[in-house]
Amino acid sequence: MRIPIGSQLNVKDSNLHLEGVPLRSLALEHGTPLFVYSKAAMLSALSAYQKGLSGRHARIHYAMKANSNLAILQTFIQAGCGVDIVSGGELARALHAGCAPGHIIFSGVGKTRTEMREALRVGIGCFNVESMAELHALNAVAGEMGLRAPISLRVNPDVDAKTHPYISTGLKDNKFGIAHGDAIGAYELAHQMPHLDVIGIDCHIGSQITQPAPYLDAMDKMLDLVAAIEAKGISIPHIDFGGGLGIDYNGDTPPAADQLWVELLAKIDARGWGNRHISVEPGRSLIGNAGVCLTEVQYLKPGAHKNFCIIDAAMNDLPRPSLYQAYHEILPLQPRSGLQQTWDVVGPVCESGDWIGKDRQLCVEPGDHLAVASAGAYCMSMASNYNTRNRAKELLVDGQQVHVIREREHTASQWQDERLI
Ligand SMILES: *Cc1c(COP(=O)(O)O)cnc(C)c1O
Repeated sequence: MRIPIGSQLNVKDSNLHLEGVPLRSLALEHGTPLFVYSKAAMLSALSAYQKGLSGRHARIHYAMKANSNLAILQTFIQAGCGVDIVSGGELARALHAGCAPGHIIFSGVGKTRTEMREALRVGIGCFNVESMAELHALNAVAGEMGLRAPISLRVNPDVDAKTHPYISTGLKDNKFGIAHGDAIGAYELAHQMPHLDVIGIDCHIGSQITQPAPYLDAMDKMLDLVAAIEAKGISIPHIDFGGGLGIDYNGDTPPAADQLWVELLAKIDARGWGNRHISVEPGRSLIGNAGVCLTEVQYLKPGAHKNFCIIDAAMNDLPRPSLYQAYHEILPLQPRSGLQQTWDVVGPVCESGDWIGKDRQLCVEPGDHLAVASAGAYCMSMASNYNTRNRAKELLVDGQQVHVIREREHTASQWQDERLI
């Protein structure tokens, strides 16, 4: 049994615990599927960034699309984070959880005029603009409101895909950001617009990045670009370096955030720019390994070619395997000492894509409980009601303390906005 790094999972008396709490007792008391997050794991992941950026003019903007539960947001906000949002809904959540509007950054390729208006009305810190068309739209909306919108341009730094093939698909895809070669022209355009304030530059080069090299290359390109833009008389006081740092799902060994930032800051300092304001937008690396999804084994279905272990969590709760063929460790809450067999761990949803783990060595019986690890990021926030399944309950563990941070959804609430004819 391999416990992912940074998870605060531990085995005591043959029982899997999160911090000081035995997970089986939570599964029995609250039912399954059940998401459980560790506050210590969240704060420890955050502290690596805080350490790396200490003494700088810097803010860590939690990319809340990774997990947007109000209590998760509140925890990061109270620990000093701003928030990176990608929709008007996320703006409302961030404000409701107590985020100062000035600490909100608005990313995304498709911001609507309604979303822009709302973000301008509350006074967010920065719009990360991703296209020329969006510059025109934001300038017009701010003009109608008699305001000026603070902006950074999200630039695609075009890190050499050949040397870093694991992120190449993200970089060839031109949906995100402004092409490196178009950046100076876009800055000149933005600078002339009467209702925009150019305050910075932004990039976000991909996700689940496990090597420092692409980050270091991207920083070189961004800093070269800052120099070229400033040579045109447009100052760039704010450098936003995005998110994307990976976590340990399956023995992955991403660099620690503090170590990575030692190297990145050295590049900034080498240009004499150590006083610039720095932002980062981590999502997965703050919450991914702080959460598990607890599930109960319903049935075992051994077969001639495959053995299926059917659990009560599914692709609607844990979409990453079906979306990206992603790997999550699956750990028994009370490991048995019998013979292990090879199982495909699958959910009850009526799709062949509804699997959670393939070819896993487990010794299980119906009624046993399992933990799907590394389930803090891009699981609950992507959960759906497919098959009219209620979304799971969520708990936050803090030492011995257990907080309910979301009740289990009720079936009637799923159809409360539907109408019979
Ligand atoms: C998704 C996203 C992030 C966070 O990415 P992680 O891989 O979760 O760290 C940061 N910035 C932007 C613009 C994003 O779209």
